[in-house]
Amino acid sequence: MSELGALVRRVIRERGPLDVGAYMQLVMGHPTLGYYATRDPFGREGDFITAPEISQVFGELMGLALAQHWLDLGRPDPVLLVEIGPGRGTLMADAWRATRSVPGFHAACRLHLVETSRKLRDLQAARVGSAGAQWHDDLSTVPDDAPLLLVANEFLDALPMRQFERALDGWRERLVTLTTGGELAWATAALRSPFHPILSARHPGAPIGAVVELAPLREAVADAIGRRLAARDGAALLIDYGARRLNGPTLQGVRRHATADPLLEPGEADVSALVDFGALAVAGEAAGAAAWGPIAQGELLLRLGARQRQAALVRGREPAEAEAIAAAIERLLDPGQMGVLFQVLALTGPGSGPPPGFVAEERWQA
Ligand code: SAH
Repeated sequence: MSELGALVRRVIRERGPLDVGAYMQLVMGHPTLGYYATRDPFGREGDFITAPEISQVFGELMGLALAQHWLDLGRPDPVLLVEIGPGRGTLMADAWRATRSVPGFHAACRLHLVETSRKLRDLQAARVGSAGAQWHDDLSTVPDDAPLLLVANEFLDALPMRQFERALDGWRERLVTLTTGGELAWATAALRSPFHPILSARHPGAPIGAVVELAPLREAVADAIGRRLAARDGAALLIDYGARRLNGPTLQGVRRHATADPLLEPGEADVSALVDFGALAVAGEAAGAAAWGPIAQGELLLRLGARQRQAALVRGREPAEAEAIAAAIERLLDPGQMGVLFQVLALTGPGSGPPPGFVAEERWQA
């Protein structure tokens, strides 16, 4: 058994069953034994591949969208350029390179990266250190004295969420416990959860046995971003796999590009769950920001000029190279691949029109 597997069992034995969020935090985020601390999970060699690792167009267009919003705001100087969960730093490296030609933008930007993994911070420093980046463990230490331009790709899905099951007496939390044989197994709490009132309001007609998810930590991120945008203006692009509304359990493990049992071999698989964009939009709006979308990632990239960028990238290339570039971009756009499963929620300052790539009709409506 792995060291982390033994730790999880010891924690449950000593403190009792873990809620799904605490389990995720332990297996994904443990500072020395956790998933992110022990590997570089991205790319073909890793467990999954993210959009910025597939094609440079992704980071370029997200960067250009934020730079366009900066122009629309009247070029505030300074402006905070923030990424949460930058992974290998690829998105920001591509965004930074692509926005070089926007006069005054780089000079105005204060670059802040929110990243807990020391290993990934090193990779990020190698890619964007020259842009003067500063690192933070969470958003709370990022300055809030200037407008905010923020991007987060596949960050929220990695944050812990919790699961609840509808029982006769109300919503009870789903827990990770140990069988008598010492194996990790699912259980349901013996008592009704303190989250019962919220869950009842959100899922009024849920039948007995229904399982739903709630992610207070994700909603707290939308709240924190929303407050900053309400106070200082700016825009945030939150890209993740998820949906406008979730009605069932979505927790899953992914190992070497295939699904894996999230309780088997903790720390060896990426454990995540779909993002409930409706809950984030509501949290962002309640904090005083305006929410837009969510809209499909493929649609947003097309509107931001993915095809034009593709044409520029393939120009003068060997046919095989051009084909590989086109196939990678297709993967991001194609509704059958990443184009629709991944959605983008934008938050802006309250007085803002639609951010680049969005239209007025896409203002969030509950
Ligand atoms: N955005 C990147 C990486 C996505 S993976 C990409 O698209 O390729 C999630 C990222 O969030 C990793 O960099 C991980 O180390 C980081 N992360 C996970 N939990 C975090 C937390 N609580 N606070 C800050 N960063 C976190």
